[in-house]
Amino acid sequence: MNLDTLFEDKKKQVISFEIFPPKKGAALRDIDATLEILSSLSPDFISITFGAGGSAVNNKTIELAKKIKEVYHVEPVVHLTCLNYTRDEIRGMLDELKEAGIYNLLALRGDRSPDYEPKKEFLHANDLIRFIREQSGDFHICAACYPETHPEADSRAADLHHLKEKVDSGATHLISQLFFDNGDYYRFLEDAAIAGICVPIEAGIMPVTNKAQIERMTTLCGAHLPEKYRRIMHKFEDKKEALFDAGMAYAINQIVDLLTNDVDGIHLYTMNNPAVARRICEGIQNLV
Ligand code: FAD
Repeated sequence: MNLDTLFEDKKKQVISFEIFPPKKGAALRDIDATLEILSSLSPDFISITFGAGGSAVNNKTIELAKKIKEVYHVEPVVHLTCLNYTRDEIRGMLDELKEAGIYNLLALRGDRSPDYEPKKEFLHANDLIRFIREQSGDFHICAACYPETHPEADSRAADLHHLKEKVDSGATHLISQLFFDNGDYYRFLEDAAIAGICVPIEAGIMPVTNKAQIERMTTLCGAHLPEKYRRIMHKFEDKKEALFDAGMAYAINQIVDLLTNDVDGIHLYTMNNPAVARRICEGIQNLV
Protein backbone atom coordinates (compact mmCIF):
# COMPACT_ATOMS: atom_id res chain seq x y z
CA MET A 1 0.00 0.00 0.00
CA ASN A 2 1.15 3.46 -0.84
CA LEU A 3 0.69 5.97 2.01
CA ASP A 4 -0.59 8.80 -0.24
CA THR A 5 -3.97 8.84 1.53
CA LEU A 6 -2.49 8.77 5.04
CA PHE A 7 -3.28 12.39 5.88
CA GLU A 8 -6.69 12.55 4.26
CA ASP A 9 -8.59 11.99 7.51
CA LYS A 10 -7.97 15.41 9.00
CA LYS A 11 -9.52 14.38 12.33
CA LYS A 12 -6.88 11.72 12.95
CA GLN A 13 -3.32 12.77 13.57
CA VAL A 14 -0.71 10.31 12.30
CA ILE A 15 1.53 8.43 14.74
CA SER A 16 4.58 6.69 13.30
CA PHE A 17 7.65 4.95 14.69
CA GLU A 18 11.25 4.85 13.54
CA ILE A 19 13.59 1.92 14.16
CA PHE A 20 17.05 0.91 12.98
CA PRO A 21 18.07 -2.56 11.70
CA PRO A 22 20.01 -4.91 14.01
CA LYS A 23 23.71 -4.08 14.18
CA LYS A 24 26.31 -5.81 12.00
CA GLY A 25 26.65 -9.47 12.91
CA ALA A 26 23.27 -9.59 14.69
CA ALA A 27 20.39 -11.62 13.29
CA LEU A 28 17.20 -10.06 11.99
CA ARG A 29 15.22 -12.15 14.49
CA ASP A 30 16.91 -10.23 17.34
CA ILE A 31 14.42 -7.46 16.74
CA ASP A 32 11.32 -9.71 16.80
CA ALA A 33 10.39 -9.02 20.42
CA THR A 34 10.61 -5.27 19.75
CA LEU A 35 8.49 -5.53 16.60
CA GLU A 36 5.91 -7.61 18.44
CA ILE A 37 5.31 -4.74 20.88
CA LEU A 38 5.65 -1.90 18.36
CA SER A 39 3.11 -3.47 16.00
CA SER A 40 0.66 -4.09 18.89
CA LEU A 41 0.62 -0.29 19.41
CA SER A 42 -0.86 0.10 15.89
CA PRO A 43 1.32 2.87 14.43
CA ASP A 44 0.32 4.25 11.03
CA PHE A 45 3.71 3.12 9.74
CA ILE A 46 7.15 2.07 10.90
CA SER A 47 10.14 3.61 9.15
CA ILE A 48 13.48 1.84 9.03
CA THR A 49 16.78 3.71 8.88
CA PHE A 50 19.35 2.99 6.21
CA GLY A 51 23.12 2.97 6.63
CA ALA A 52 24.84 5.69 4.63
CA GLY A 53 27.79 3.43 3.87
CA GLY A 54 27.05 2.43 0.28
CA SER A 55 26.87 -0.98 -1.36
CA ALA A 56 29.99 -2.28 0.43
CA VAL A 57 27.93 -2.29 3.62
CA ASN A 58 25.37 -5.02 4.08
CA ASN A 59 22.15 -3.07 4.61
CA LYS A 60 19.40 -5.00 6.36
CA THR A 61 16.83 -2.23 5.88
CA ILE A 62 14.90 -3.71 2.98
CA GLU A 63 14.90 -7.20 4.49
CA LEU A 64 13.52 -5.77 7.74
CA ALA A 65 10.88 -3.75 5.88
CA LYS A 66 9.65 -6.94 4.20
CA LYS A 67 9.37 -8.60 7.59
CA ILE A 68 7.42 -5.68 9.09
CA LYS A 69 4.98 -5.84 6.20
CA GLU A 70 4.59 -9.60 5.87
CA VAL A 71 4.83 -10.79 9.48
CA TYR A 72 3.65 -7.79 11.52
CA HIS A 73 1.21 -6.31 8.97
CA VAL A 74 2.34 -2.73 9.51
CA GLU A 75 3.17 -0.51 6.53
CA PRO A 76 6.94 0.04 6.34
CA VAL A 77 8.67 3.21 5.11
CA VAL A 78 12.17 2.50 3.85
CA HIS A 79 14.81 5.21 4.35
CA LEU A 80 17.07 5.43 1.30
CA THR A 81 20.28 7.46 1.29
CA CYS A 82 21.92 8.37 -2.01
CA LEU A 83 25.30 10.04 -1.48
CA ASN A 84 27.27 6.80 -1.58
CA TYR A 85 25.22 4.96 -4.21
CA THR A 86 25.13 4.92 -8.01
CA ARG A 87 21.98 5.28 -10.10
CA ASP A 88 22.15 1.59 -10.99
CA GLU A 89 22.35 0.60 -7.34
CA ILE A 90 19.36 2.77 -6.44
CA ARG A 91 17.41 1.43 -9.44
CA GLY A 92 18.12 -2.11 -8.22
CA MET A 93 16.81 -1.28 -4.75
CA LEU A 94 13.65 0.34 -6.16
CA ASP A 95 13.00 -2.82 -8.21
CA GLU A 96 13.49 -4.99 -5.13
CA LEU A 97 11.08 -2.81 -3.14
CA LYS A 98 8.41 -2.94 -5.85
CA GLU A 99 8.74 -6.69 -6.06
CA ALA A 100 8.09 -6.85 -2.31
CA GLY A 101 5.08 -4.50 -2.61
CA ILE A 102 6.82 -1.75 -0.63
CA TYR A 103 5.96 1.67 -2.04
CA ASN A 104 6.90 4.07 0.75
CA LEU A 105 10.29 5.75 0.92
CA LEU A 106 12.06 8.42 2.92
CA ALA A 107 14.48 9.89 0.37
CA LEU A 108 17.66 11.22 1.98
CA ARG A 109 21.08 12.45 1.04
CA GLY A 110 22.73 10.79 4.06
CA ASP A 111 25.50 12.16 6.24
CA ARG A 112 29.02 12.48 4.89
CA SER A 113 31.48 10.02 6.41
CA PRO A 114 35.27 10.05 6.20
CA ASP A 115 35.05 6.25 5.75
CA TYR A 116 33.20 6.36 2.43
CA GLU A 117 33.89 8.14 -0.83
CA PRO A 118 30.68 9.66 -2.30
CA LYS A 119 29.77 8.23 -5.70
CA LYS A 120 28.92 11.77 -6.91
CA GLU A 121 25.90 10.60 -8.92
CA PHE A 122 23.49 12.10 -6.38
CA LEU A 123 24.58 15.26 -4.55
CA HIS A 124 21.39 16.08 -2.66
CA ALA A 125 18.20 14.35 -1.58
CA ASN A 126 16.41 16.31 -4.28
CA ASP A 127 18.41 14.44 -6.97
CA LEU A 128 17.20 11.15 -5.49
CA ILE A 129 13.58 12.31 -5.33
CA ARG A 130 13.68 13.33 -9.00
CA PHE A 131 15.30 10.03 -9.94
CA ILE A 132 12.66 7.99 -8.06
CA ARG A 133 9.86 9.94 -9.76
CA GLU A 134 11.47 9.34 -13.18
CA GLN A 135 11.63 5.60 -12.48
CA SER A 136 8.09 5.21 -11.23
CA GLY A 137 5.05 7.20 -10.14
CA ASP A 138 4.05 4.45 -7.72
CA PHE A 139 6.11 5.52 -4.72
CA HIS A 140 4.98 7.68 -1.81
CA ILE A 141 8.06 9.82 -1.16
CA CYS A 142 8.82 11.41 2.22
CA ALA A 143 11.74 13.78 2.78
CA ALA A 144 13.54 15.13 5.85
CA CYS A 145 13.15 18.67 7.20
CA TYR A 146 14.94 20.61 9.91
CA PRO A 147 13.02 22.86 12.34
CA GLU A 148 16.29 24.37 13.56
CA THR A 149 17.84 24.45 10.03
CA HIS A 150 20.17 21.76 8.66
CA PRO A 151 23.69 22.25 10.15
CA GLU A 152 25.34 22.52 6.70
CA ALA A 153 22.84 25.01 5.25
CA ASP A 154 24.13 28.42 4.14
CA SER A 155 21.13 30.06 5.83
CA ARG A 156 17.63 29.27 7.05
CA ALA A 157 16.19 30.79 3.88
CA ALA A 158 18.47 28.62 1.69
CA ASP A 159 17.47 25.50 3.64
CA LEU A 160 13.75 26.30 3.17
CA HIS A 161 14.36 26.98 -0.51
CA HIS A 162 15.95 23.52 -0.91
CA LEU A 163 13.13 21.95 1.08
CA LYS A 164 10.63 23.51 -1.33
CA GLU A 165 12.64 22.03 -4.21
CA LYS A 166 12.27 18.56 -2.65
CA VAL A 167 8.50 19.03 -2.48
CA ASP A 168 8.34 20.40 -6.03
CA SER A 169 10.30 17.35 -7.22
CA GLY A 170 7.78 14.92 -5.72
CA ALA A 171 8.08 14.59 -1.93
CA THR A 172 4.52 14.59 -0.61
CA HIS A 173 5.23 14.21 3.09
CA LEU A 174 7.94 15.59 5.38
CA ILE A 175 9.36 14.19 8.62
CA SER A 176 11.25 16.51 10.92
CA GLN A 177 14.55 16.19 12.67
CA LEU A 178 14.16 15.79 16.45
CA PHE A 179 13.70 18.93 18.51
CA PHE A 180 13.10 19.66 22.20
CA ASP A 181 11.47 23.08 22.02
CA ASN A 182 8.04 23.17 20.38
CA GLY A 183 8.48 26.91 19.79
CA ASP A 184 11.24 26.07 17.29
CA TYR A 185 8.86 23.71 15.51
CA TYR A 186 5.97 26.20 15.31
CA ARG A 187 8.32 28.88 13.90
CA PHE A 188 9.50 26.36 11.31
CA LEU A 189 5.89 25.49 10.30
CA GLU A 190 5.17 29.20 9.79
CA ASP A 191 8.32 29.69 7.71
CA ALA A 192 7.61 26.56 5.65
CA ALA A 193 4.08 27.82 4.91
CA ILE A 194 5.49 31.22 3.85
CA ALA A 195 7.93 29.38 1.57
CA GLY A 196 4.93 27.70 -0.11
CA ILE A 197 5.45 24.25 1.40
CA CYS A 198 1.98 22.78 1.77
CA VAL A 199 2.51 19.03 2.28
CA PRO A 200 1.87 17.30 5.64
CA ILE A 201 4.76 17.53 8.10
CA GLU A 202 5.33 15.09 10.95
CA ALA A 203 7.08 16.28 14.10
CA GLY A 204 10.09 14.13 15.07
CA ILE A 205 10.21 13.40 18.80
CA MET A 206 13.00 11.56 20.56
CA PRO A 207 12.16 10.59 24.16
CA VAL A 208 15.44 10.60 26.01
CA THR A 209 16.35 7.68 28.25
CA ASN A 210 19.99 8.25 29.14
CA LYS A 211 22.64 10.95 29.32
CA ALA A 212 24.97 9.49 26.66
CA GLN A 213 22.06 9.41 24.21
CA ILE A 214 21.29 13.13 24.72
CA GLU A 215 24.92 14.06 24.22
CA ARG A 216 25.30 11.92 21.09
CA MET A 217 22.11 13.12 19.47
CA THR A 218 22.59 16.79 20.15
CA THR A 219 26.17 16.68 18.90
CA LEU A 220 25.02 14.90 15.74
CA CYS A 221 22.11 17.12 14.83
CA GLY A 222 22.81 20.28 16.83
CA ALA A 223 19.37 20.35 18.51
CA HIS A 224 18.93 23.18 21.00
CA LEU A 225 18.26 22.07 24.58
CA PRO A 226 15.85 24.38 26.45
CA GLU A 227 16.85 25.41 29.96
CA LYS A 228 13.92 23.50 31.50
CA TYR A 229 15.11 20.36 29.74
CA ARG A 230 18.73 20.82 30.81
CA ARG A 231 17.68 21.18 34.44
CA ILE A 232 15.61 17.99 34.36
CA MET A 233 18.43 16.03 32.73
CA HIS A 234 21.04 17.42 35.11
CA LYS A 235 18.97 16.58 38.19
CA PHE A 236 18.33 12.96 37.20
CA GLU A 237 21.33 12.08 35.03
CA ASP A 238 22.75 9.57 37.52
CA LYS A 239 19.44 7.89 38.36
CA LYS A 240 18.53 5.59 35.50
CA GLU A 241 14.86 5.01 36.36
CA ALA A 242 14.24 8.63 37.31
CA LEU A 243 15.82 9.87 34.07
CA PHE A 244 13.64 7.45 32.11
CA ASP A 245 10.50 8.75 33.85
CA ALA A 246 11.57 12.37 33.33
CA GLY A 247 12.46 11.77 29.66
CA MET A 248 9.07 10.14 29.01
CA ALA A 249 7.18 12.90 30.84
CA TYR A 250 9.00 15.59 28.86
CA ALA A 251 8.27 13.87 25.52
CA ILE A 252 4.60 13.26 26.41
CA ASN A 253 4.27 16.95 27.35
CA GLN A 254 5.79 17.96 24.03
CA ILE A 255 3.44 15.63 22.12
CA VAL A 256 0.31 16.77 24.00
CA ASP A 257 1.16 20.38 23.10
CA LEU A 258 1.84 19.45 19.45
CA LEU A 259 -1.41 17.50 19.14
CA THR A 260 -3.30 20.38 20.76
CA ASN A 261 -1.85 22.65 18.10
CA ASP A 262 -3.12 20.35 15.34
CA VAL A 263 0.17 19.12 13.91
CA ASP A 264 -0.21 16.59 11.07
CA GLY A 265 1.56 13.81 12.92
CA ILE A 266 4.16 12.62 15.40
CA HIS A 267 7.16 10.55 14.32
CA LEU A 268 8.63 8.79 17.33
CA TYR A 269 12.31 7.97 17.27
CA THR A 270 11.95 4.77 19.30
CA MET A 271 15.68 3.85 19.34
CA ASN A 272 14.35 0.24 19.16
CA ASN A 273 13.19 0.54 22.74
CA PRO A 274 9.65 -0.89 23.02
CA ALA A 275 9.29 0.37 26.61
CA VAL A 276 9.64 3.91 25.28
CA ALA A 277 7.05 3.48 22.55
CA ARG A 278 4.65 1.77 24.94
CA ARG A 279 4.94 4.46 27.63
CA ILE A 280 4.46 7.28 25.12
CA CYS A 281 1.46 5.60 23.47
CA GLU A 282 -0.16 4.95 26.85
CA GLY A 283 0.39 8.62 27.71
CA ILE A 284 -1.52 9.83 24.63
CA GLN A 285 -3.89 6.92 23.98
CA ASN A 286 -7.08 8.97 24.27
CA LEU A 287 -5.72 11.96 22.33
CA VAL A 288 -5.42 10.48 18.83
P1 FAD B 1 19.44 17.36 1.65
O1 FAD B 1 17.99 17.64 1.49
O2 FAD B 1 20.23 17.06 0.42
O3 FAD B 1 20.08 18.61 2.41
C1 FAD B 1 21.41 18.56 2.92
C2 FAD B 1 22.01 19.97 2.96
O4 FAD B 1 22.21 20.43 1.61
C3 FAD B 1 21.10 21.01 3.61
O5 FAD B 1 21.92 21.93 4.28
C4 FAD B 1 20.38 21.69 2.43
O6 FAD B 1 20.00 23.01 2.74
C5 FAD B 1 21.47 21.62 1.36
N1 FAD B 1 20.94 21.48 0.00
C6 FAD B 1 19.90 20.71 -0.40
N2 FAD B 1 19.74 20.81 -1.74
C7 FAD B 1 20.72 21.65 -2.19
C8 FAD B 1 21.10 22.15 -3.47
N3 FAD B 1 20.42 21.82 -4.58
N4 FAD B 1 22.17 22.99 -3.55
C9 FAD B 1 22.86 23.35 -2.45
N5 FAD B 1 22.55 22.91 -1.21
C10 FAD B 1 21.49 22.07 -1.08
N6 FAD B 1 20.72 9.49 7.69
C11 FAD B 1 21.09 8.23 7.33
O7 FAD B 1 22.26 8.01 6.98
N7 FAD B 1 20.21 7.20 7.37
C12 FAD B 1 18.91 7.37 7.73
O8 FAD B 1 18.13 6.43 7.73
C13 FAD B 1 18.49 8.67 8.12
N8 FAD B 1 17.20 8.92 8.47
C14 FAD B 1 16.80 10.21 8.76
C15 FAD B 1 15.44 10.45 9.07
C16 FAD B 1 15.00 11.73 9.34
C17 FAD B 1 13.54 11.97 9.66
C18 FAD B 1 15.93 12.82 9.32
C19 FAD B 1 15.46 14.21 9.65
C20 FAD B 1 17.26 12.59 9.03
C21 FAD B 1 17.71 11.29 8.72
N9 FAD B 1 19.05 11.02 8.40
C22 FAD B 1 19.44 9.74 8.07
C23 FAD B 1 20.05 12.09 8.45
C24 FAD B 1 20.23 12.78 7.09
O9 FAD B 1 20.80 11.87 6.17
C25 FAD B 1 21.17 13.98 7.32
O10 FAD B 1 20.53 14.96 8.07
C26 FAD B 1 21.83 14.55 6.07
O11 FAD B 1 22.88 15.40 6.50
C27 FAD B 1 20.93 15.38 5.19
O12 FAD B 1 20.01 14.63 4.53
P2 FAD B 1 18.82 15.31 3.68
O13 FAD B 1 18.12 14.25 2.97
O14 FAD B 1 18.03 16.24 4.51
O15 FAD B 1 19.73 16.17 2.64
